[in-house]
Amino acid sequence: MAKRVYIETWGCQMNLHQSEELAGAMRAAGYDIVDALDRADVVLFNGCMVRQKAEEKLLGRLGAVVEQKRRRSVILGVGGCFGQVHGAAILARSAAVDFVFGTRGHASLPALVERVARGGERAAVVDAADDEKEPVPVRRSSVSAMVTITEGCSNFCSYCIVPYARGPMRSRPPERILAEVQTAVDEGYREVLLLGQNVNSYGRDQSSYGGFEKLLRRVARTGVDRVRFTSSHPRDLTDAMIEAMASEPRVCRHLHLACQSGSNRVLGEMRRGYTRERYLEIIDTARKAMADLNVTTDIIVGYPGESKEEFRDTLSLVEQARFGSVYAAKYSPRPLTRAAASADDVPPAEKEERLQRLLQVQRRIALEENRRFVGRDVMVLIEGRTRDGGSYGRAEDHRTVVVHGTVEVGELVPVRVAGAAAAALVGVSLVSEGAVS
Ligand code: SAM
Ligand code: SF4
Repeated sequence: MAKRVYIETWGCQMNLHQSEELAGAMRAAGYDIVDALDRADVVLFNGCMVRQKAEEKLLGRLGAVVEQKRRRSVILGVGGCFGQVHGAAILARSAAVDFVFGTRGHASLPALVERVARGGERAAVVDAADDEKEPVPVRRSSVSAMVTITEGCSNFCSYCIVPYARGPMRSRPPERILAEVQTAVDEGYREVLLLGQNVNSYGRDQSSYGGFEKLLRRVARTGVDRVRFTSSHPRDLTDAMIEAMASEPRVCRHLHLACQSGSNRVLGEMRRGYTRERYLEIIDTARKAMADLNVTTDIIVGYPGESKEEFRDTLSLVEQARFGSVYAAKYSPRPLTRAAASADDVPPAEKEERLQRLLQVQRRIALEENRRFVGRDVMVLIEGRTRDGGSYGRAEDHRTVVVHGTVEVGELVPVRVAGAAAAALVGVSLVSEGAVS
């Protein structure tokens, strides 16, 4: 009988992609990948540690496996950043967990599962090395292929657990990246998304690899229709990178550049390595080079000691920068980090209020920005279907577009924008309307 594995993922795109690699490793070992927990012999929870809430979500899901275990034999593995940081303590905390895995060495996961299944032992393996032979990912999307270019992070921003959960930054050899991109192109993927915690520091640990701008140009010339990348760090953003983006038509006009705060004191405490002025200068330079550039960002509200005035500095940065979208989060103290030693002194209600004020300002800006597109034509890569039978996809600058008209997932179609909301544009496919020959 075929062995079946179910994988559930929390967290960022890096985690989502690592689950694709886990699925690849399990498939290579003869497992079928199933999409329902109650049909699986092996359940893998790939968890996030970036905020407390992500941890709580994972712990909240353990009950569903406990329920299954009462009725039949199921093996549960918990891992990713969550497994890496907590290690064997997870086994002590929950009897439902059979094994713990970390953020490296996914190719050896099936062997660990077999050991646990055969011997009935419980194990925590979080000291694995990077894979020599990387698993071939089982991709969830048939349109956009995620390709890792760097693992880990060496920045140690004061609030962030990623360097502890994922280790120091390691650049992947360019030949491996280009081979994976080429395979994706040959398989019909229209887009590649280059992934790393800090993609624009690519190559700093291995000078023979060249910098990010060189890699970006090489990827853009593989024949892929679109190249995206995330995340970039303001401190490492160079003119050469902006030039590479601007001169390669296949590179999308989207820059995700986390600012985190608009207050110079808070940025200093966070150890981000730039000021508010420098951040605004960078996006100004980038927009001068690419008039149609969409800049998006991450912001933390309620960092320890953030005063009302410092929060207002963040609001005014958001007003000035006119982001296309903002991922905003309330500060959450994380174990091992430097900021966790400071009192988490912005009260929860105040953090919530700041978050809501920020989102309100951003919704207004996004709506104003999106309205500028009404009546214009944008190229949309169709990614999926909406519940009411329409389709959705992304414009070249990463804006979400709801598309009416007959279009197929994976098509790159011209769309005339007819309406705008804060979260998306709405338009009609010009191909299905017969307006484009
Ligand atoms: N490397 C990216 C960068 O620096 O731009 C960010 C990657 S991090 C996993 C994603 C986002 O999570 C961060 O940009 C930050 O806004 C948020 N984040 C990280 N630690 C956090 C914490 N302790 N509390 C709240 N948000 C946090
Ligand atoms: Fe975390 Fe900072 Fe690294 Fe981003 S750059 S992953 S915020 S330590």
